[in-house]
Amino acid sequence: MGLARKDALVAIVGMGGLGCPVALALARAGVGALRLIDDDQVDRGNLHRQILFSERDVGRHKLDAASDALARIAPSMRLDVRKTRLRPDTVSALDGADVIVECSDQFAVKFLASDAAFLARTPIVVGAAIRWIGTALSVGPRGGPCYRCLFEDIPDGAQASCDVSGVVGPVCGVIGGLEAALVLRILDAPGIGHPEAGHGTLLRFDGRADALRAHPVSRRTSCPLCGVARTITSIEAGRYLPPRCDE
Ligand SMILES: [Zn+2]
Repeated sequence: MGLARKDALVAIVGMGGLGCPVALALARAGVGALRLIDDDQVDRGNLHRQILFSERDVGRHKLDAASDALARIAPSMRLDVRKTRLRPDTVSALDGADVIVECSDQFAVKFLASDAAFLARTPIVVGAAIRWIGTALSVGPRGGPCYRCLFEDIPDGAQASCDVSGVVGPVCGVIGGLEAALVLRILDAPGIGHPEAGHGTLLRFDGRADALRAHPVSRRTSCPLCGVARTITSIEAGRYLPPRCDE
């Protein structure tokens, strides 16, 4: 992309266990502007992995607490706060971002953000962490391999999330750090689609096996988003409907 870090707007979807370390790392790295997207409040039970927040933030809106913390860390960084959950009717919250970082714990949000990024030709980094295992994937602005090449659709009974499955705090730190590093690779790469951007490789960390492995992702010709006969050409609300884990 060759976009200077100080001129970049990075949108972070979800300010939980992944979003907190991502925002912290990007603020320290000199990214010019962050857009934070979340609708939740700081919960005492999540403080072990939401490293931007402290005990006195419990009960505050996450984005109010995050804004205060980030303003102390990087006073000149611009913050654009969107107090909403990313849904089909709020997906315009991603408009204009130079890079999107998906940090939610919901499959529906991951697919929605990934589809929207693909359709807008915006690079996206998607992270996930459950228990001792986490993954990070960078998808370029020029198509596949995309998130749907890896996971075709929202799995049946896909309630697996941090809230119900638990996650080890430092694993979120590792994956958030990897996501932030992938964002910086995109910004620092000499051009769109340049190999240095790191697109198309799934990084998988297993905290109990002391293993970080890189798996190349193959583009699937039958992928509904980036394949030759793709069927997803717009954001249709009915495609992103699994239950929320807090309901
Ligand atoms: Zn694909």
